Amino acid sequence: MKATAGIILKSARERELMRAAGAVVHQVLTHMRELAKPGVTTGELNTVAEAMIVEAGGTALFKGVTHPQARDPFPGALCTSVNEELVHGVPGDRKLADGDIISVDCGVLLGGYCGDSATTIPVGTVSPEVNRLLEVTDAALSWAIAEMRPGRMWSEVARGMQRLVEDAKFAVVRDFVGHGIGKEMHEDPKVPNYWSPKQAHMDFELAAGMVLAVEPMVNQGSHEVEYGDDDCWVIVTRDRQAAAHFEHTMAITDDGVDVLTDGRTTSS
Ligand code: MG
Ligand code: MG
Repeated sequence: MKATAGIILKSARERELMRAAGAVVHQVLTHMRELAKPGVTTGELNTVAEAMIVEAGGTALFKGVTHPQARDPFPGALCTSVNEELVHGVPGDRKLADGDIISVDCGVLLGGYCGDSATTIPVGTVSPEVNRLLEVTDAALSWAIAEMRPGRMWSEVARGMQRLVEDAKFAVVRDFVGHGIGKEMHEDPKVPNYWSPKQAHMDFELAAGMVLAVEPMVNQGSHEVEYGDDDCWVIVTRDRQAAAHFEHTMAITDDGVDVLTDGRTTSS
């Protein structure tokens, strides 16, 4: 379909294909929520997730992704980021422990279209403060879903999410943002979760047919993040306090938002 300022609008048919990809992502994340218990390794979660994606006829979007700083392509079907790890954690032999949190990010290509969603899961019993971090981050995403509609500027949504997070005395990550999504996992526009006057050139008006991956990333302490190791994949909070990440792929409709990664198989 036609593009608006570089943003590729998706037809109703394309949105249904994206919903099918999104349904696989949802199934994987739902199962990860059941499996993420003390003693389970992040590698075991990844193995199960990859089998589910293949069984569904899909391709794991993250596997094999390269980036200039990283020595090796990303090896996982999932990103599994524990505690102070924000995003891009590599699945491996780390065993989850009671009180941990794990952010699981999953991307699937199915029928030529992408779905992308993430959730942060408490392992066993987590501290009340960490539990509040998860609730606030999830609430920021829910707020965006409720407020997004044609005619709104993205900056209004970003400011609202930021306000909600900062009122709760947490910090919105600046260095990583959401994105347009479609045939490619990352399309225009960039979709930040905070706003500053410096970003005025990045603002855009929401329009029916846009499909965006909105993904608030929230730190318990400072917003600053850095690479966690020399492999240059995992991103950690600079102060090593906890981080949370919730994401949905969603289409802008005539009067609101249609979440494509919430497990529904039709729009109604
Ligand atoms: Mg994601
Ligand atoms: Mg994403």
